[in-house]
Amino acid sequence: MNSPSHLPALIVGAGPIGLACAISARRAGVESVVIDAGALAHSIVRYPIGMVFFTTPERLEIGGHPLVCAGAKPTREEALKYYRGVARAEGLTVQPFTRLVTARRVDGVIQCTIATRSATTVLSGDRLVLATGYFDHPNMLGVPGESLAHVSHWFDEPHLTSGLEVVIIGGKNSAIETALQCYRAGAKVTLVYRREEFKPSVKYWLRPDLDNRIASGEIRARMGATVVAITTDTVVIRNGAGEEEQLRADRVYALTGYHPDFDLLRDIGITLEEATGRPALNPETLESNVPGVYLAGSAGAGRNTSEVFIENGRYDGEKIFGDAGRRRDAEARYQAHSRPVGE
Ligand SMILES: Cc1cc2nc3c(=O)[nH]c(=O)nc-3n(C[C@H](O)[C@H](O)[C@H](O)COP(=O)(O)OP(=O)(O)OC[C@H]3O[C@@H](n4cnc5c(N)ncnc54)[C@H](O)[C@@H]3O)c2cc1C
Repeated sequence: MNSPSHLPALIVGAGPIGLACAISARRAGVESVVIDAGALAHSIVRYPIGMVFFTTPERLEIGGHPLVCAGAKPTREEALKYYRGVARAEGLTVQPFTRLVTARRVDGVIQCTIATRSATTVLSGDRLVLATGYFDHPNMLGVPGESLAHVSHWFDEPHLTSGLEVVIIGGKNSAIETALQCYRAGAKVTLVYRREEFKPSVKYWLRPDLDNRIASGEIRARMGATVVAITTDTVVIRNGAGEEEQLRADRVYALTGYHPDFDLLRDIGITLEEATGRPALNPETLESNVPGVYLAGSAGAGRNTSEVFIENGRYDGEKIFGDAGRRRDAEARYQAHSRPVGE
């Protein structure tokens, strides 16, 4: 790694929020290095190919750089190009494929163990900002067969499901959008949801489309059903009356949400609220109970990952690196943009 062994700030996670933090640090005169276990904006890299954001472009912008897109809302590809361009224009130091393994506060500095493909090293920093998101850690169903090769907790590309029997587990925006896309790519889709009804937070443009497909039998829905097991070619579900059914499945998408890396946070010494997984943070500065360690973006939301997203999390860097005025401004913008985009 080409960075010095002591840094004023190490920012972990080169997602939209980690990059926004690095811009805030730079504008506050604090030198920082951003590392990411994957590529720059790796969570967006893992979005389905061709995905269109729920959010309009101006609400995804960081550092005041305009996000220009061809349609009303940006695609995955346009967003990747944008965040790459912002990092370049701001001259940010981003070290991809470099993972934070752990960190400890020792003698007033944060000792960070980081690993690349070929080496593990220790860096020290005055401040450590964890902007590690949640997308690497799916909420597991905890049923037999969940780790079979045809089961995925991430939706990749509709085309891959053409001509297949596909079971989608979940009933929020991502699961519903996946069901519609797979259906349109020529899959036979069954949606399995543990609740009897879809939540009102389902996007207004998805709901009528889904309702019509279910009413016409083009997509099958099993509401109020839980998954009991997954085999190489079936998903076994149980309904509220306790009856079991075997659904044929060539491909299974278990889209039941994600959570931050609780093990890493605990290992660093951050206190998490038992019920919610929410870290102990100073709401004004986002500093955790470990002095010098901050949480930004979705990583700080606990299990309720739909609470912090790009629209509102993009101001977190100002809370961490700004003065009192910039913090107040950031909080006002956070509140103004805190309307959930769905999971
Ligand atoms: C399909 C989908 C659609 C979405 N649509 C929208 C939308 O329209 N609008 C919106 O505002 N939000 C949307 N979101 C939510 C949005 O993606 C997240 O809120 C956003 O990515 C959070 O940004 P972040 O920078 O906090 O975390 P992330 O973007 O998840 O970035 C975290 C980064 O940290 C890295 N990392 C994790 N652990 C380590 C480690 N130990 N060491 C080093 N690096 C690490 C990861 O590789 C990743 O690149 C959507 C999410 C999904 C899944």
